[in-house]
Amino acid sequence: MIPIYKSDVVIVGAGLAGLAAARELSRAGKNVTVLTKLHPLRSHSGAAQGGINAALADDDDVELHMFDTVKGSDYLADQDAVELMCSRAPETIRWIERMGAVFSRREDGRIAQRPFGGQSKPRACFAKDRTGLTLLQTIYEQCVREDILMLDEWYVSDILYENGKAYGVVAFNIRDLSFAIFNAKAVMFATGGYARAFKINSNAHANTGDGLSIFARKGLPLEDMEFVQFHPTGLAGSGILMSEAARGEGGRLINGLGERFMEKYAPEKMELAPRDVVSRAIMKEIIEGRGAKEDPFAVYLDLTHLGEKKIQERLPELRDLALTFLGRDMVKEPILISATAHYSMGGIPVDTNGHVKKSTDELTEGLYAAGECACVSVHGANRLGANSLLEALFFGRWVGNKIAEDLKDITFKDAKTSDAEMAIREVDFLLKNNGDERTSKIREELQELMTTKVGVFRDEKNLLAAKEKIKELRNRYKNIKLDDKSKSYNTDLQEAIELGHMLDYALFITAGAVERKESRGAHYREDYPKRDDENFLKHTFGYLENDDIKIEYAPVKITKFEPQERKY
Ligand SMILES: Cc1cc2nc3c(=O)[nH]c(=O)nc-3n(C[C@H](O)[C@H](O)[C@H](O)COP(=O)(O)OP(=O)(O)OC[C@H]3O[C@@H](n4cnc5c(N)ncnc54)[C@H](O)[C@@H]3O)c2cc1C
Repeated sequence: MIPIYKSDVVIVGAGLAGLAAARELSRAGKNVTVLTKLHPLRSHSGAAQGGINAALADDDDVELHMFDTVKGSDYLADQDAVELMCSRAPETIRWIERMGAVFSRREDGRIAQRPFGGQSKPRACFAKDRTGLTLLQTIYEQCVREDILMLDEWYVSDILYENGKAYGVVAFNIRDLSFAIFNAKAVMFATGGYARAFKINSNAHANTGDGLSIFARKGLPLEDMEFVQFHPTGLAGSGILMSEAARGEGGRLINGLGERFMEKYAPEKMELAPRDVVSRAIMKEIIEGRGAKEDPFAVYLDLTHLGEKKIQERLPELRDLALTFLGRDMVKEPILISATAHYSMGGIPVDTNGHVKKSTDELTEGLYAAGECACVSVHGANRLGANSLLEALFFGRWVGNKIAEDLKDITFKDAKTSDAEMAIREVDFLLKNNGDERTSKIREELQELMTTKVGVFRDEKNLLAAKEKIKELRNRYKNIKLDDKSKSYNTDLQEAIELGHMLDYALFITAGAVERKESRGAHYREDYPKRDDENFLKHTFGYLENDDIKIEYAPVKITKFEPQERKY
């Protein structure tokens, strides 16, 4: 018999967004259960290095932060959401600081702020280069203090959703594959990003976009999926992130000819142009044969002029990572970097209160999302560095409070044990199927395809070929066979389920990219190199239908800043 556990709210995901919401709900006296496939402190938020934005300095202001964000987004961000987030950013920093987050300080004792790409002021508050970990530990401690039920190593594989209303999730315990239904008035997803579909990426193994695909399989839309951010500075070969903080602290990009090549691409902002601009510049240098001498598929990131004291004080983690994974000490020599898939601007469409949309103009009931898995859209076509920790922390908290208010109007719908049938069937199928395909083989082919054909530079021919190939891989997936049939910590099984999700959302990314015949932010089409506001100043809504993606569009909310040409 499948147990059915009841609570007011179930939150899927224990990163910054999920835990911030859980803390607020608990403080509001609500009974909340957090489910997470990892221990909360292993959530990807803990890997964030560089900083979190807020207009705190005397010479900065909220309107400037908003403008930088909207310009950075290539005017695709919804400006009401941007205004909400930027105007609450200073208070969000004070909130987390009061709970114990220790930020790096200036000489005069105020919170230190470093420059980040595309920002007109140094605006990223930081804790050395371990900002995400500091924030995550702080909010986790608060959740422990609240005595919130956090169930880790529980894998959520389905959502209870009928006639526009959500009433729980189905999950299995990774330790022994036992299933349970978590029945609730409200369900919030905070399942993080999805860059693992790319071969070269900066993300943790867990970032497989589970939440998105679980929604898509229920016929719910996904928004702006074609906008995947490629971070300019991943370690050569592995893609492990060298945070933008390295350039914020003064790091220079140099090609194989010894040229500081950003002079050609963004003469004013140089290395601190937004990520889409810098990534394209790096890839162009590499493609045109000006890569590093020791590795033509990389360029140099030079920090040697900063000196050991500053590097140790501000970037100790990056130094360790480069030493461990590249064998280079950034104090003594330039390191080798290249663009790496990093962040998901698109995701589950939500309004500014976190309500999930079931179409371009209708909301679901009792269903919420926040953090990187959601698309509210504060990042539009390109996210500015240090705006994402802000999004996760601010919207996590905000949506938590909204759910607490909404609960009085939501009726409890009882779950039945039969609601778990689909999730159980999926696991049974994977354990029993006796085909001749392997998870790792299909995953490698998918990742290679996404990096080479749906990467920094895109065109019709490659995108269409990629779409066909993804469909082929989805068919081959039906013929999968697992070696491990056991019930205890079966990572073979979990990886197969996650691959199913990756294949789903890869189709959304590619289909959206095929249809968007313009270049905007991170989506660059060599066959349509210009932004086309007349035809494409709009959000993409994709729906999974008959093994393909149906596309609709929705208008962008423009309040203060009319689209302009974007120059840096
Ligand atoms: C290397 C790196 C550095 C970064 N640095 C910065 C930075 O300096 N500044 C900045 O603003 N942004 C940065 N970012 C981005 C930022 O860290 C993330 O966008 C943000 O932390 C996401 O938080 P989240 O709460 O949405 O998701 P996450 O922290 O990723 O949490 C996702 C949660 O969902 C759970 N989950 C997922 N699927 C399931 C499932 N099926 N069942 C149960 N649980 C599930 C996971 O266990 C996890 O608890 C960085 C990103 C990377 C990759």
